[in-house]
Amino acid sequence: MARHLDPATRDALVERVRFYRDLGLSEFYRRPVDEALLAAETAEGAPEERAATQLAEVQSAKSQAALSLEDQPISARKPFPAPPQIAAGVPAGDRAAALKMIREEIGDCTRCALHKGRNKLVFADGDPNARLMFVGEGPGADEDAQGLPFVGRAGQLLNNMIAAMGLKREEVYIANVVKCRPPGNRTPEPEEANTCSPFLFRQIDVVRPQVLVALGATAATYLLGHRQPLAGLRGRVHAFRGMQLIVTYHPAYLLRDPRQKKEAWADLQMAMKELGLKKAASTAGPE
Ligand code: SF4
Repeated sequence: MARHLDPATRDALVERVRFYRDLGLSEFYRRPVDEALLAAETAEGAPEERAATQLAEVQSAKSQAALSLEDQPISARKPFPAPPQIAAGVPAGDRAAALKMIREEIGDCTRCALHKGRNKLVFADGDPNARLMFVGEGPGADEDAQGLPFVGRAGQLLNNMIAAMGLKREEVYIANVVKCRPPGNRTPEPEEANTCSPFLFRQIDVVRPQVLVALGATAATYLLGHRQPLAGLRGRVHAFRGMQLIVTYHPAYLLRDPRQKKEAWADLQMAMKELGLKKAASTAGPE
C-alpha cells in the first residue's frame, strides 16, 4: 500500500503513526497499514533532500525549544502588564468580520522591533467560531515564509495532536503571542510580547472558544500573567476570561523530548473532557 503513496503523504502518515505510537495509541490505525508504512520508510529511507530539510526543521525546532521560557530562570523574566479588559461578545455570524478588522488594524505593523526581520506577519489560522483554540509563542521560519501559524515540523505535530482529539485543523483556531518571527527563533522579549499580545487577547475575545490551550511556557505566561514554571500550570483547568484554559507543552519542545508526548496527551484529554469529546472507540489510549 505504501508504494502507491506520494512521498509527502507517506511522510505525513508515518509521522502520524509514530505520534500515535508515542502516545500509546496502538489501535488507531489498522496494524498492517502501520507496519507497511514504517517498513517502507525504513527500507527506502527518505530522499537526501527531504532528509536534509527534515534535519533543518528538527534543528530549528530544537533551537526554538532550547531558547524557550522553560529553560530560563524565573528571576530572568521581566514583569508584564495586566491583560486588557474582556471585550463584549461578538455574535457568531460576525466573528470572521471582527477578526478581519483586527487584522486590518494591525496592518503592516512596526509597533515592535520584530517587524524588522519578518517576511510575513502571521495573524492566525482556523475557524472564527472554533470551540477550541491553541496559542503558541511566535512564528518560526516556515510560518514566517507562509504567513500561517504552525506549518513546519512542530505544526505537523500539532496537526497530529488535533487529529488525535478527533478534530480537524480547520475546526480549531490557532494563533501566537507575537505575530512576527523573533530572530533566530529566540523567545520574544517581554516588550515585544507585551506590545503584540493585546491583539491576541482581542482575537481570543472575538472567537471566545470554550477551551483555550496554551502551548508552552511563553503562551501560558502571557495569557495567565503567572510567572510560574510549566509544571505548576499543567494538569488543571484555569479560569480565563470566562473560558477554560489548559496548559501543555509546545510541540517544538515535544520534538526535542518525545517522552513528554504522553503528558501532553493527558493535557489534551483534559481539554477533550471539557469539550465533551469522546475518545475514538478504536483507540486504546495511553497506559
Ligand atoms: Fe507588530 Fe506584533 Fe509584529 Fe511586533 S510582533 S511588529 S507588535 S505584529
